[in-house]
Amino acid sequence: MFDSLSDRLGGVFDKLRGRGALKEQDVRDAMREVRIALLEADVALPVVRRFVDQVTEKAVGQSVLRSVTPGQQVVKIVNDALIETLGGEQTAELDLNAAPPVVIMMVGLQGSGKTTSTAKISRLLKDKQGKKVMMASLDVNRPAAQEQLRVLGEQTGVATLPIIPGQQPTEIATRALQAARLQAVDVLMLDTAGRLHVDAQLMNEMKAVAAITTPRETLLVVDSLTGQDAVNVAQSFAGEVDLTGVVLTRMDGDARGGAALSMRAVTGKPIKFAGTGEKMDAIEVFHPSRVANRILGMGDIVSMVEKAAEAVKVEEAEALAKRMEQGKFDMNDLRMQLKQMQNMGGIGMLAGMMPGMKKAKAAMQASGMDDKVLLRMEAIIGSMTAKERANPALLNAKRKIRVAKGSGTQVQDVNKVLKMHLEMSKAMKQIKKMGGLKGLAAMFG
Ligand code: GDP
Ligand code: MG
Repeated sequence: MFDSLSDRLGGVFDKLRGRGALKEQDVRDAMREVRIALLEADVALPVVRRFVDQVTEKAVGQSVLRSVTPGQQVVKIVNDALIETLGGEQTAELDLNAAPPVVIMMVGLQGSGKTTSTAKISRLLKDKQGKKVMMASLDVNRPAAQEQLRVLGEQTGVATLPIIPGQQPTEIATRALQAARLQAVDVLMLDTAGRLHVDAQLMNEMKAVAAITTPRETLLVVDSLTGQDAVNVAQSFAGEVDLTGVVLTRMDGDARGGAALSMRAVTGKPIKFAGTGEKMDAIEVFHPSRVANRILGMGDIVSMVEKAAEAVKVEEAEALAKRMEQGKFDMNDLRMQLKQMQNMGGIGMLAGMMPGMKKAKAAMQASGMDDKVLLRMEAIIGSMTAKERANPALLNAKRKIRVAKGSGTQVQDVNKVLKMHLEMSKAMKQIKKMGGLKGLAAMFG
């Protein structure tokens, strides 16, 4: 069996961790693995080539941010390239800017998930956008196909065109358009027939329906589990009709992520939705950055690298990293971290971003801490003596009272700072254990 793409890439970046700089040979080694990983994930070869070239070019010779590891930095570069390949940061909205009824035609092979996706998208339009939607099935090949859509319409509360047996797809399309106009429908969803493979009859039928209804959107539905095949299908359809977007189904089972990566590159069309299950609410607007994250499996390292680049003073961070490696984290370090937290957008942001910081976050929240409190904490630390800052264990009851007075706070506030220091020391040991996340540690302390 295949390793998941994220496993493979994870392995690559593990190897990169702890190296001093982003050297050409490192990048080439990593890219060889990335290439294999992508191919095993069923990403189309030309897409892999382009992707690898793109990343190599960006990565080689890039000066490494001193506050992150080379591995983390390559994660970021690969991530950015993934997002680009997946269509950029923006999500692609449905284009409904036409005189109603706006027609959306769903095309694709049999079993790809057209009927299911037709109903899911209709439901979204009705429930989330308040549109009046009608669905019509033009699938006269399979006896139960029109009935299937009618049942889904009942389930989702979306109107379906009444079924008249014996009609051809073009007749149904004409009738659907008339009915939609008559009933002042906003969006008319056309579910078309599929075949087991791409053939001339299927394409002609599709073109005839398009000629009658002039769809604003023609969405190609592809099963992401079919991998490389999905790419071939997409290519054939794109050559015949004016596709405006792609719906990738069965993303719930797509551990390898390859189809998503190839689809945009091959069709040149945005992936608009991702089907994530059989239920009617199992559909999501496709988020390139989210999917890139998922493929990489690197969580929020990417955003941490971004933040680190923006906000962390390199020298401070490195000094702190060194101290932490020696197992030191005192009140001076905490004070510095409080300052950096403010630079980086406050507690909620940072704590939500950091692996291993859940405890510290919980402690902060339990004590009702907000960003104003950061300033008070700094005042408390400022009222400690140099000795106390270097060795917080010195702070007995008497000293705490003095510090509280000096900072205009209560002893319980002093205790909170001590508690936070303790939690952070623990969390940092944990991060250290997680292996070489030096930049991460350096950033937060
Ligand atoms: P069509 O022939 O293209 O109209 O395909 P259908 O809409 O009838 O779907 C075929 C099968 O795939 C059905 O059993 C659906 O429930 C299932 N299906 C569709 N989309 C998804 C999805 O995103 N995830 C999963 N797990 N199953 C799906
Ligand atoms: Mg169908």
